[in-house]
Order: sequence, then structure tokens, then C-alpha cells
Amino acid sequence: MPPPVNPLLLSSRLSCSFPPPSLTSLLDGPLPTPLRHRIEALVSSDPVLSNARNAQLPRVERHRRALAKHLRMRELASKLGVREDLSDRGFMCLVLSIADDLPSLLHWGMFLPNLRSLFCPRQLREWLPRAESGEVLGCYAQTELGHGSNVRGVETTGTLDEGTDEIVLRSPTVTSRKFWPGGLGKTSNHAMVIAKLVVRGECLGVHNFLVPIRDARTHEPLPGVTVGDVGSKLGYNVMDNGFLILDDVRIPRENMAMRFQTLSRSGELKKLGSKDDASSKISYITMMLVRAQIVYMSSQNLGLAVTIATRYSAVRLQGFKAGTGEEVQILDYVMQQHRLFTMISSSYCFFFTGERVLSRLFSIQSAMASSAGTVSKAEMADIHCSLSALKSFCSTVTAAGIEDCRRACGGHGYLDSSGLPELVNT
Ligand SMILES: Cc1cc2nc3c(=O)[nH]c(=O)nc-3n(C[C@H](O)[C@H](O)[C@H](O)COP(=O)(O)OP(=O)(O)OC[C@H]3O[C@@H](n4cnc5c(N)ncnc54)[C@H](O)[C@@H]3O)c2cc1C
Repeated sequence: MPPPVNPLLLSSRLSCSFPPPSLTSLLDGPLPTPLRHRIEALVSSDPVLSNARNAQLPRVERHRRALAKHLRMRELASKLGVREDLSDRGFMCLVLSIADDLPSLLHWGMFLPNLRSLFCPRQLREWLPRAESGEVLGCYAQTELGHGSNVRGVETTGTLDEGTDEIVLRSPTVTSRKFWPGGLGKTSNHAMVIAKLVVRGECLGVHNFLVPIRDARTHEPLPGVTVGDVGSKLGYNVMDNGFLILDDVRIPRENMAMRFQTLSRSGELKKLGSKDDASSKISYITMMLVRAQIVYMSSQNLGLAVTIATRYSAVRLQGFKAGTGEEVQILDYVMQQHRLFTMISSSYCFFFTGERVLSRLFSIQSAMASSAGTVSKAEMADIHCSLSALKSFCSTVTAAGIEDCRRACGGHGYLDSSGLPELVNT
């Protein structure tokens, strides 16, 4: 039995000036509302998906619990008949309903989109079924200890060995070590490694290489691979952001992404597609998707925080009404309204903006998936600029907004059980 609704909260809700179901259907969009209710009911009644005592659990235990959640989420996706793809509304709803960080999230958020966009049909026939079944669980390894924003500066190399038809991956210096990739530290068994291709001593630019890093049976690091977790962080501690050292790790030449260029056994790198077609720039699509997801998740996280703070403000009484012994709902203070209502508006703005940019990227992705698909340079430039600015703007407003929600709850926002401290740190 759900607890009875506080009468102050109830009366605040009843004073709503529009019919709430109209807003519900606007927010649910193409996702049928009964399906969302079913997903939320399944998630909230499942003991494996419980978030109880999250804040008290040691990091290792929380990570282990999140792995169990990953498996249960996949079972539920199959039971509900939703496709395991973040472009599927049902799957996104499942991920959001779990309301906890999953260390496998970047498998869907970065690894799979990268594979689908940059690998050719022949490569996809080999890898996609394994990655979709979860046998291959991947992460996206671009950032190095020495190079983050400056991707062209990455030092990890993939050198073609024409004799064995293999690529040899090396990260010989401290600064060339991969550092930060989410899911790398403990969870993944494959990494999409961003490295410079070297053929006969010549550097041929930055490319994507699919590298097995852990044994499929034992999950131990493969020969030449040193991998681990970067350590405890300010927040987001369920995620095992990792480091990776590659010491002469050999992969077949065929593990290099070859949708927009091919590398022959003799070392010839051939670009595919016309001059006006921006398809080759699609190699940035993984980063663009992450930026779009950050915009969308900004709306979700600010929405969570401002919902907690607004509900609290409806039930919290503080200060006497002038000339009466009656106390004031803190939601009635104009200053409180100014803080909360602007954040509610921002979370709606980010929601619709996030939806728009995600759907634009998903449609570019599916255009690319059909062999006839091309993307114009102007469209790529526009979406790249928009996303770079939006990611920064939305996450800045959200981070400050969640902290303000915590303060707007007075002392109670400081309690872990309010849900706000973890949101602030993440
Ligand atoms: C929680 C988390 C998860 C991550 N997940 C992944 C992942 O899954 N895969 C992955 O590959 N990476 C991941 N990263 C790495 C992330 O992409 C990098 O941290 C990011 O690219 C910034 O690089 P950096 O940390 O090296 O900062 P730097 O590039 O060193 O920048 C440091 C600061 O220098 C200044 N600066 C740098 N360049 C400029 C410039 N051109 N103009 C003006 N100022 C500048 C800015 O103030 C900037 O904040 C993750 C990082 C975090 C924190």
C-alpha cells in the first residue's frame, strides 16, 4: 500500500491550472503511457532493482549490485519486448526508471553506436550479434592521461604488421595510457580504442580499433593488457572509470573500423564516399551522441532534484502568516518560487531540446545504416556546433540548479535520504 498523500501536497496538486494528463502525454510522446506505467511498476516492485541503502553501500558492493541490475534490466527488456537501444523509448524509460548509474551504460551509449556507425556491413555481421547479446560488453577508450580535449594529440598507436596482417597496439608512455573511459575499470571485456594508425613508420591519423581486453571465460586481462579502475571520484562512483595500458597487443587488421575507409593488407588506406559527403566526419558521432545524452540527462536530473525540492516546499511549513498563528508553506515565498519555478522551466526546456537533438542524431545514424545514406557537411557542422554549446550550457545550469534545490530544502536537503547529495555530486 502506498503511503497516504500529504494533504498539503494534495491541495497544491489540486490547484493545478491545467489538466495534468495533457502534460503527461506531451512528455511521454510516442511512448504509450500504460507501457511507461507498467515499466515503472515492474522496476519499483523488483527487489534486485532496489535503490535502498545505496548511499551506505561500499563502492565495490554498489558496483556488484549494479551489475545484477544490468542483468535484471536485460531480462525485463526481453519480457517487455523492448529493443536494447537507447533510441527505443521503452528501453530509455527502463534505464531511467532504474534511477541508478549502471556501469554498463556506455555499452549502449557509446560502444554500440560507434560500432553501428563506423564498421562496415561485413564487420557488423561478425560483431553486432555478439555485442547485442551482451557476450561482447564494450567501452569507449579515447581519453589518455596526457590528452583529453585534444583528440588529435592521442599517443596510443596501432601499427600495421603486414607480415601477420595484424595491428599492434602500444601505449608506451605514461601520458599515452587510456584514462577515464567509463566501464573500462572492471566491467567491459572489449574496448573501442581510439589510436593513431601507423603504416611503415608513417602516421595515417586517428582511427577506431576494436580491442578484446579481457578473457571471455575468466574475465582476466588478456596478455599485454593492464587495466583497472581510476579510483574513487567526487561522485558517479558506481561507474568504474578505468585506465588501460596496451603493450604490443595484437588484433586482426579487420578490427579497425572500415566503413568510411579501408586499410588493405599491404597498408593502403582508401577513403570512401564523395568529397561533399560529410560521412567521414561521422566518426565524431559517438561524441555527439554523448553530448546529446548529456543534454537529455540534464533535464532528467534537474527534473528529479526540482521535483524533490518542490514537493518538499509544498509540505514544509515555516514562519507565521502575518497576524495569524498559521504557518506558511515555504512554496508560498516568492523567493522560493523564483528559484524553483525557473528550474522547473529549465528542466522542460532541456527535455524538449534533448529529445530534438537525440532524434536528429538517431535519424542521421539510421541514414548512415542504410547503404544509400549520406549526410551533408552543413548539417554535420550545424549539429556539431549546437551540441558542443548545449552540452556545456545545460550541464552547467543543471549542476548549479541541483545544488540550489538542495539548499532550497534547508537542512533536510543535506541528508542522503533526501536523494539530493548524490545527485549534486554526480
Ligand atoms: C566522469 C567522466 C567520465 C568520462 N568518460 C569517458 C569515456 O567513457 N571515454 C573517454 O574516452 N573519456 C571519458 N572521459 C574523459 C573526458 O572526455 C575528458 O575528461 C575530457 O575530454 C576533458 O579532457 P581532460 O580531462 O584531459 O581535460 P583537458 O583537456 O586537459 O582540459 C583541462 C582544462 O583546460 C582548459 N582547456 C583545455 N583545452 C582548452 C582550449 N582549447 N581552450 C580553452 N581552455 C582549454 C579547460 O579549462 C579545461 O577544463 C570521462 C571523464 C569523466 C570525468
